[in-house]
Amino acid sequence: MFSGAVARVDGAPAAGATVRVCAADGAMLGWAAYSPESQIRARMWSFADTSADAAAGAEAAIDDAFVAGRVAAAAARRSALLGTGFTDSARLVFSEADGVPGLVADRYGDTVVCQLTTAGAEAWRDVLADALFALPGVECVYERSDADVREREGLGPRVGLLRGVPPSPDLVANEGGFRFAVEVEGGHKTGFYLDQRDGRAAVAQWAAGRRVLNVFSYTGAFSVIAAARGAASLLSIDSSGPALEAAARNGTLNGVDVGELREGDAFTALRGLRDRAQHYDLILLDPPKLANTERQLDKATRAYKDLNLLAVKLLAPGGVLLTWSCSGAMSMDLFQKVVAGAALDAKREARIIGRLHQPSDHPVPLPFPEAEYLKGLIVQAR
Ligand code: SAH
Repeated sequence: MFSGAVARVDGAPAAGATVRVCAADGAMLGWAAYSPESQIRARMWSFADTSADAAAGAEAAIDDAFVAGRVAAAAARRSALLGTGFTDSARLVFSEADGVPGLVADRYGDTVVCQLTTAGAEAWRDVLADALFALPGVECVYERSDADVREREGLGPRVGLLRGVPPSPDLVANEGGFRFAVEVEGGHKTGFYLDQRDGRAAVAQWAAGRRVLNVFSYTGAFSVIAAARGAASLLSIDSSGPALEAAARNGTLNGVDVGELREGDAFTALRGLRDRAQHYDLILLDPPKLANTERQLDKATRAYKDLNLLAVKLLAPGGVLLTWSCSGAMSMDLFQKVVAGAALDAKREARIIGRLHQPSDHPVPLPFPEAEYLKGLIVQAR
């Protein structure tokens, strides 16, 4: 609930306290966690409107058992994914989408890495940590609450062990027979891009025999898969030296040669490849979030356009581009227009042959479509 939608606050609730949310006519809408510093002033725990709920005090309605139960239920919903044996790593809790606003928890084998991003989650930190540690087989709960979004809640960074044994320095995500190193302490997000699971499957499908260009490669998950599937050649580009070093280690870990790892700015590197008339049969384009907010969307749209224009130009005849946007502010619709504009400007005829999304462990609540932040297109040029 945005601050502009709040007409009145009774009393002075503490940061993270459970507050009763009521409509203008006094009807109870539900219980929420109060965030005095944030634009998003209250985050809904429940949309209860039964008289029993309304009669209950905040402490009775949202108590330890309620919060722990939400975590356990979210984790249980991942058992189908984790039970297939395809992967031992998944996002167990995805904030609002799992009814636990402000908590992201990713599981890698016996280790859970979590982020608490709101005053509400902060207020329940011990209950949340205990609930994660109580999940079957969990030996370690580590906190990576160092995302910028905490500042908007008036919270400083917090990083460190919450429960159990320290994370193993050799921690890996086992997925589809591959082993990907998880950089728990120094990596992006919680150490690995779990949200690109479906992207990795698409790379596996398209890589064989192709000259592959992996732009924004991070620790080379796509490159490892492309190498294993028999790519004809491989070039990975990222601005982070440590990420590329990790990509080399991931190659070794999987017994494959990940090819050339080039450190540098993607825009510059792509222009360089264009000027040298290089061509590729499979290009992977997975930039970081270029629009953090609606206001940055215009500028970000131009950047996505530039990147995709350069990439389309580098496609060999029949070449395939896997292109993503992880900006929540950009809809699939707009993204498709951007890519279409890029192909038009590149004077290349191309068609969409597939769409990519965040995977099932990053669910989207029906009333909150904005939670669908990751979208991708598989585009084939003539
Ligand atoms: N596809 C990767 C995730 C990419 S995350 C995976 O599946 O694991 C985005 C990456 O872009 C990060 O590794 C970051 O270091 C890199 N990056 C950010 N800005 C960049 C730039 N201007 N040029 C090249 N790489 C950049």
